[in-house]
Amino acid sequence: MAAPDEEQAHERRRAFGLESRAGAPDSVANSRAFCLWMTGLPGSGKSTISGELLVSLRNRGRDAFGLDGDVLRLGLNRDLGFSDDDRSENIRRTAEVARLMVDAGLVVVVSLISPFRCDREFARSRFASGQFCEIFVDAPLEVCERRDPKGLYAKARRGELTRMTGIDSPYEPPEHPDLHLHTDSDDVGACVEQVLGWLRPRTP
Ligand code: ADP
Repeated sequence: MAAPDEEQAHERRRAFGLESRAGAPDSVANSRAFCLWMTGLPGSGKSTISGELLVSLRNRGRDAFGLDGDVLRLGLNRDLGFSDDDRSENIRRTAEVARLMVDAGLVVVVSLISPFRCDREFARSRFASGQFCEIFVDAPLEVCERRDPKGLYAKARRGELTRMTGIDSPYEPPEHPDLHLHTDSDDVGACVEQVLGWLRPRTP
């Protein structure tokens, strides 16, 4: 008998019309599905890399979709704030949506600060071991603060914003990320190439 988790995945694939009642999986779609989970400080480059990566993936004929933390907070997660509990719930919901999309055969690129290790471990636990990649989008805090693409660091320093990750809310860097990007020394194109190079042998 199938494990409950496996059974749920079958149910979801059926709901998406990707699997027949007989239960034969859509092997082409699912062998290429993947979740690329980008974590890092605000301003480290998650959204920028995600945007370029999605273009590259689609140009290579892959069905790819991005889940961006800021965008999700406008709709699905608009009831959530920035307390530790709300950040955890933000990640839980995002992981579940990403999983549905992976079940549907997509490459999903998540760009979310996801500051706490335990929440990222939860996200990983929702995927098969060969379908999840934790990508540490890394730049020193001083560099992120200098970039300050959304002006949030300046606001936090002026005391107009609280619970800002890196300033008055912690960021727990991944200890063993699957992929570690250094956006202070490698440009966007080089970072995107590293992700594509990592993905290529895993989803031929
Ligand atoms: P995040 O989504 O992590 O908050 P953003 O992608 O919104 O960060 O902003 C990152 C900023 O850093 C952008 O202005 C981008 O142009 C700049 N940047 C400089 N070098 C890189 C790089 N190698 N990768 C990604 N972004 C970079």
